[in-house]
Amino acid sequence: MTTVGILGGGQLARMLALSGAPLGLRFLVMDTAADACAGQFAPLLVGDYRDEAALAEFASKVDVATFDFENVPAESAEWLAHRVPVFPNPRALAVAQDRLVEKTLFRELGIPVGAFANIETRAQLQAGVEQLGGACILKTRRLGYDGKGQFRIRSVADVDAAWQALGAQAATVGLIVEAFIPFERELSVIAVRSRDGEFRTWPMTENWHVDGVLSASLAPASVDAALAGAACAHARHLAESLDYVGVFALELFYRDGELLANEMAPRVHNSGHWTIEGAETSQFQNHLRAVLGLPLGDTRALGHACMLNWIGEMPASGAVLQEAGGHWHDYGKEPRAGRKVGHATLRADDAALLAEALRRVGSALGREAQVAPVVGRLSA
Ligand code: AMP
Repeated sequence: MTTVGILGGGQLARMLALSGAPLGLRFLVMDTAADACAGQFAPLLVGDYRDEAALAEFASKVDVATFDFENVPAESAEWLAHRVPVFPNPRALAVAQDRLVEKTLFRELGIPVGAFANIETRAQLQAGVEQLGGACILKTRRLGYDGKGQFRIRSVADVDAAWQALGAQAATVGLIVEAFIPFERELSVIAVRSRDGEFRTWPMTENWHVDGVLSASLAPASVDAALAGAACAHARHLAESLDYVGVFALELFYRDGELLANEMAPRVHNSGHWTIEGAETSQFQNHLRAVLGLPLGDTRALGHACMLNWIGEMPASGAVLQEAGGHWHDYGKEPRAGRKVGHATLRADDAALLAEALRRVGSALGREAQVAPVVGRLSA
């Protein structure tokens, strides 16, 4: 019996455990919270990721370890890796944890990326904003997610406010200023690399965010074949350079016929949730296959799929469940403002049918605004 250990016990760990059941896998999830939602499906070890006794107990009970949460301290991942196989490896995790290191690697690998600068002082921020032309985003280098730890700068006049908001974090998690990219679309590549170097990508996904949080995803995205090929080649280059094993996401901005990398997520990703019903093999199943050294499954899409995130609270499920291609995912979390509590995926054999289903669901749930950009894309 193989036991997969997962550091972090949120919805990603929960969906990994659900996906691993048919493979006969056992799971052990470690989280700092006693009510972590993966604990409803797998034994949960409650402990701090820096607590060596808790990590030792975790290591003694699992055959392989992986992550649902990328901000596990890199030293803890390193410590574990001396005791049990850890995938992705701690270096890949460390690179993806730090926006500056990550963007510097993108640049070294020839992956197009917007202009950015490391910021340690207010004077550097002033100079950086001037150099980048005024429109920027100041972000924490580490520990930011879903738009948190970010300050939008519209001109040099905002430098004081930005420094007031985030300046204190320069000494702790570090800061980076990035040119604001007035993107036309946001896309992601979900990719998987196995222990023996086999590499696959799912069809590209188009994503829509609201307040920095993913709201909807559509796949396959309609993207010029050459551009999609280049994006997948960049993902492969990145994975090979990090000797990455498992699933990861490469988030990209599309502008003027060009793709610019924003960031990589070293784990299964919200923009890949559609693969559960919308692809031959889901990101969760392939992540498990990769970390266990099993053959990877086919990543082809089954028609067209749209994922809608439920943020804060779950809507009523009826409108989605009555759709022929409607699928419901309730993460079993307490409602809380801004929290990802579930998602739905609508799948259809063609784009027009998917647009119709989205319109019905959007109006039944009073979420016309959430489905509108996706319907607009499908109807274009
Ligand atoms: P991140 O945490 O970097 O993924 O940022 C969250 C969201 O903020 C992204 O998905 C974009 O919608 C927006 N965003 C982040 N960085 C930039 C940027 N440099 N230019 C424009 N929008 C951005």
